[in-house]
Amino acid sequence: MQIQVFKFGGASINSGERIKNMAGILQRYAIGPVLVVVSAIGKTTNALEEVLENYLANDPLAVLDSFQKVSDYHFAILDSLFSDKSHPVYGEVTSLFDQLRGYIRKGHLYSQTKPGRDFEYDQIVSFGELFASAIVHHYLVSQGLTCRLFDVRELIRTDATYRDARVDWNTTGRLIQDAVSGWFPDHPGKGAIAITQGFIGCDPAGNTTTLGREGSDFSAAIFAFSLQAREMTIWKDVPGVMNADPKLMPDAVCLDTLSYREVIELAYYGASVIHPKTIKPLENAGIRLRVKSFLHPELEGTVVENIREWKISTPIYILKQNQVLISVSPRDFSFIMEENLSEIFRTLAAFRIKVNVMQNSAISFSICVDNDPHKITPLLSFLQKNYETRYNQGIELYTIRHYTDEAITRITRDRKILMELRSRNTFQVLLDKKNG
Ligand code: ASP
Ligand code: MG
Repeated sequence: MQIQVFKFGGASINSGERIKNMAGILQRYAIGPVLVVVSAIGKTTNALEEVLENYLANDPLAVLDSFQKVSDYHFAILDSLFSDKSHPVYGEVTSLFDQLRGYIRKGHLYSQTKPGRDFEYDQIVSFGELFASAIVHHYLVSQGLTCRLFDVRELIRTDATYRDARVDWNTTGRLIQDAVSGWFPDHPGKGAIAITQGFIGCDPAGNTTTLGREGSDFSAAIFAFSLQAREMTIWKDVPGVMNADPKLMPDAVCLDTLSYREVIELAYYGASVIHPKTIKPLENAGIRLRVKSFLHPELEGTVVENIREWKISTPIYILKQNQVLISVSPRDFSFIMEENLSEIFRTLAAFRIKVNVMQNSAISFSICVDNDPHKITPLLSFLQKNYETRYNQGIELYTIRHYTDEAITRITRDRKILMELRSRNTFQVLLDKKNG
């Protein structure tokens, strides 16, 4: 059976109009069995992160206030999709909001160890995908599509690394095969749609887990791999994978093809176009990935596949904002030796901090990392105990793949350069705050 996997992200379903548009795409393009992964509506994940922050701060009024915003937003969308207020979707979505309200109302006495901030994150923030899938499922059914909703927590099994859960591929593969493949053959023909949530999974104890921000692409790839899908499509608000963020560079162009390898590189350097973990399962199973516009579905988009001699003449620009540059040197002016480096890396691993760029000299070692205060503050206090530590915030990290002199000038002109690295295909530069 040739299954296709479609992933619809937050922007593709951020209003009643867009959900109608999504249904139109499925009516037109869901030929044969399709597994649809949806993420949270619009910017709901950010809004739920706010609920979480208020909850962790034990601020009941702020909790309810932020909760209400999420709820109003979803019910406004429901009202624009369903004219009949007695439609079962209302009961279902209300009951999901009741569950979340029940959870956050209990209040929270924050402790580092139990149950832990990351655990709480997953229990609260995962609701975004549950709301979205319930709404979209009912809407698709109302439009006459053959559609069944699967709770992904019964399909994707992970470990208990909350906020960054690791997939148990064997169990997951078996669960997906049994539940989803088993469902499709009963519904042959056009438009049999299995819909489920991106971003979330479930640990062996039955607790909800999440796969990391923007993880729905990865969820879709887990399904594509487990179902041996023919192709996976990510529907986005851009024509495909662009060579730069069109909001920053209006002359950005859509790339027709990319190799799996190049996409892994782009994701590694911080291109937000596709979640970094997405490619490996697709590459392993030889599943073609398409990135297409939900606004112009007639366009071909970008095709990612196994191209050995992939070449490109356009530079690709990747910007990571809000970086911190941390430089450490031993207090006694001794050299930065392997022992120092391994201690620093052990600490970075313990705080789960990813190094975006690094450079070392005889007596100093510099790293550039994302500015996540929850991680950076304990890291800095650790480093300051043992090293002379300096840090610089608000930095921009630009990476140019397949760079040219012209591309470098375009990025660095009139800017203060803090660090620069160059390899055969990749140019990276750290720039101080704009006008800095
Ligand atoms: N809703 C989640 C997020 O915004 C997952 C995703 O969109 O892929 O991070
Ligand atoms: Mg999202």
